[in-house]
Amino acid sequence: MTEPAQNAPFRRKHPRTGPNLVDVQMNLVLASDPVVGRVFTNEQCTARTSAAAFTRHVVIDVSGTPLAGVCTAGQSFGVVPPGTDERGRPHSMRLYSLASPTAGENANPNLIATTVKRLIDEHHDTGKLFLGVCSNFLCDTQPGDEVLVCGPSGKRFVLPANPGAHDYVFFATGTGIAPFRAMLHDLLAQSTGSRIVLVAGVPYATDLMYHDTFVSLDKQHSNFMYLPTVSRHAQFDGSPSCYVQDRLVTHKDLLIPMLESSRTLMYVCGILGMELGLCRTMHQVLAPEVLAPWMTIDGSISHEPASWNQKMMYRQIKPSGRVFIETY
Ligand code: FAD
Ligand code: NAP
Repeated sequence: MTEPAQNAPFRRKHPRTGPNLVDVQMNLVLASDPVVGRVFTNEQCTARTSAAAFTRHVVIDVSGTPLAGVCTAGQSFGVVPPGTDERGRPHSMRLYSLASPTAGENANPNLIATTVKRLIDEHHDTGKLFLGVCSNFLCDTQPGDEVLVCGPSGKRFVLPANPGAHDYVFFATGTGIAPFRAMLHDLLAQSTGSRIVLVAGVPYATDLMYHDTFVSLDKQHSNFMYLPTVSRHAQFDGSPSCYVQDRLVTHKDLLIPMLESSRTLMYVCGILGMELGLCRTMHQVLAPEVLAPWMTIDGSISHEPASWNQKMMYRQIKPSGRVFIETY
């Protein structure tokens, strides 16, 4: 499947030193020949109705299509929105991360889900209202509506083949939470006892997605900890606003021992740039021997983390195979 450039996942090259990953199926349905799914449910998934962002949990019934029962937590699927672009060509496919567990939403293999945020803005050039095509199409759908879907795609941002051999630190920003909802349900269902920390970053507390579910899972499972993280006002406990990577400082007693352990894998999903901030903070807070298994840093820049930029990622700052990054 050829993905349009605007939807191409951020590519990276680094030595593969990580664990064997779970086998996945890929591209069973091509974007050029999508299949018809039907919206099963479409519900707001932010913490409160007054959220600044409009984000919805959309469940699609793909029964009778090759997508039924084949999507793995961490993968994405494609949606081809109806209609044509400004040049009269059919809209291109957009990718959405699977938010449903590998077994399917509510353990129904015919149901796949995602977490969609409406792209709403003023047009960069004209200043008029700019509505993203596919995100608003998906968010506007009603149960029973047809959605053209394809996929699944992605084989690197998935859980290891032997999940019980590892502990997990998940860093999400915004809708980057989607794959972690899926992976978390997979891991908890397998009762491996693995330790799992989910750091979920959003601008405002009202933007937190699946918040009540994660709070409840945190209470039910002693091996799972949920750390909601708000960037534009104080945290629930009154501590200052911060980014997800700052949790390595505020919660160092929890997170540093996990990063010291060879069992731990790190997954990062969401806004492009968060991986750079995370690497910078890790460089600042971890002892060199603890940092080494997580990334290699070119000697020419290792003493100047403040000057690091995104272009250095994967060239001079190379996360190891224990770090899984999907940012866009
Ligand atoms: P479009 O109509 O495609 O508009 C976006 C385009 O318009 C961009 O090219 C952008 O440069 C441009 N643009 C943006 N703002 C403006 C503006 N103000 N003025 C002018 N032009 C502008 N999204 C989710 O919500 N949930 C997910 O789980 C998710 N998973 C993803 C997984 C992967 C692997 C990738 C690559 C992307 C994922 N996305 C996800 C993003 C998703 O694919 C779409 O890009 C997003 O929903 C926006 O699509 P759209 O059709 O609504 O916007
Ligand atoms: P959002 O609601 O705007 O939240 C993003 C959060 O990240 C905000 O709190 C923001 O803080 C913070 N942030 C900004 N820069 C950061 C940095 N350098 N380091 C750490 N945190 C930072 O997010 P969104 O609109 O949902 O966007 C999420 C992005 O993830 C989108 O681009 C989407 O395409 C992508 N995504 C990718 C995948 C994937 O690849 N599989 C899946 C889902 C989503 P401030 O705004 O306060 O600065």
